[in-house]
Amino acid sequence: MSTISRIGTALPPWGTATARQVGDDEDAVTLAVAAGLAAIGDTDPNVINQVVVVSRDFPLLEGGNSAAILAGLGLREDVRISETIGGSPAVLDAVAGAVHTTLVIGTDAAGSAGASAIVCGAGGAPLGITGRVTRSMPVVTRDANGNSSDYADPRLLRERGVNESLSRLGTPTPLVAAGLAAREAAAVCTGTPPPLLTVGASAIGFAIAALADQGAAGQVLAAEQATLVLAELGAGSITVARDEPSARPRPDGKLAPGSSVSVSLSAYERAFDPKLRLEAGKCGSCGELSYPPRHRCIECGSEKPTLLVPLPRHGVVYSLATIRVPVPGLISPYTVVIVELGDTGVRTLVRLTGATPGSVKIDDTGSLVFRLVAVRQGVPDYGYGFLPDSTFTQNKEVAA
Ligand SMILES: [Zn+2]
Repeated sequence: MSTISRIGTALPPWGTATARQVGDDEDAVTLAVAAGLAAIGDTDPNVINQVVVVSRDFPLLEGGNSAAILAGLGLREDVRISETIGGSPAVLDAVAGAVHTTLVIGTDAAGSAGASAIVCGAGGAPLGITGRVTRSMPVVTRDANGNSSDYADPRLLRERGVNESLSRLGTPTPLVAAGLAAREAAAVCTGTPPPLLTVGASAIGFAIAALADQGAAGQVLAAEQATLVLAELGAGSITVARDEPSARPRPDGKLAPGSSVSVSLSAYERAFDPKLRLEAGKCGSCGELSYPPRHRCIECGSEKPTLLVPLPRHGVVYSLATIRVPVPGLISPYTVVIVELGDTGVRTLVRLTGATPGSVKIDDTGSLVFRLVAVRQGVPDYGYGFLPDSTFTQNKEVAA
């Protein structure tokens, strides 16, 4: 038994009202960071003792995702974090098993993309597991090269998979069923379940967020193929923050042939923290900010140790350029903007994200958001993109 106090959700802006797809600068890690930041909101991130990230779309199966997620979330590097390969049942188990204040993130980049993050173990609505059945019905498989194949027998999955597992659970009547297609979810739920845009690890967070919006409590079901986990959500307050820009078609870019700049892992390591944590160096003598941090102050010449300070995430477009010539290994056209951050005077050069190339102008406002800047020889290089404020519809809550 644990509790849920806050849920953050994130969707890519690309796609349709019923299914979103990642842009070329998004993956399971960037979506996890967006949902996690929405869940943390204005609360002190230091209350998070542990992070559990659940996905079947981790970009680096050999390791390296967790450090990028902690840095993107602004959490200390000594916070315990684990990566779990799984879907919504694994998320529900992680939430119910949370002892300390834990951020459980489910993130999906393949297929219909999205992420949800649940703050648990810190008050709010109680949640406890009431049933679990783990069975194998591998209708979708992936080979060592990442190529997926679908057995494509929805009737077999429904009859011998989901329905058989449900009967072993005593035929429950959940309010939501995460991980099932809309029609299958409607068949097993009591009443009309809320529409869910994802079916992977993130789906259960979206489902519980929808219940919280209705003030509803009751049974919640998480499914992945024939494996089901059933939980009882009790009454209690859950704050929901949605980082969900309105849907639009992904722009037609053209990937220029050839390879991009090769990776230098030593440069990657040097830049990692200042770049991913968006921290400036503050001169120990005069207080001048430098980004990226410099050894010698450009204002007063001091070489006193600098203090790392977080930069504001909101700013205005100072200058911009749209690149239309093909650049090997990149999709063009794309727009780069120089953003002036808050009132710090610090300007940084980033790529426009979440908007059609060329669609911003000088003095437009927006936020720096965690994005995949490049993939070099298989190494994801994270940093920030500029998301114009106009990307959000007015009725959606924008993550700070
Ligand atoms: Zn100085």
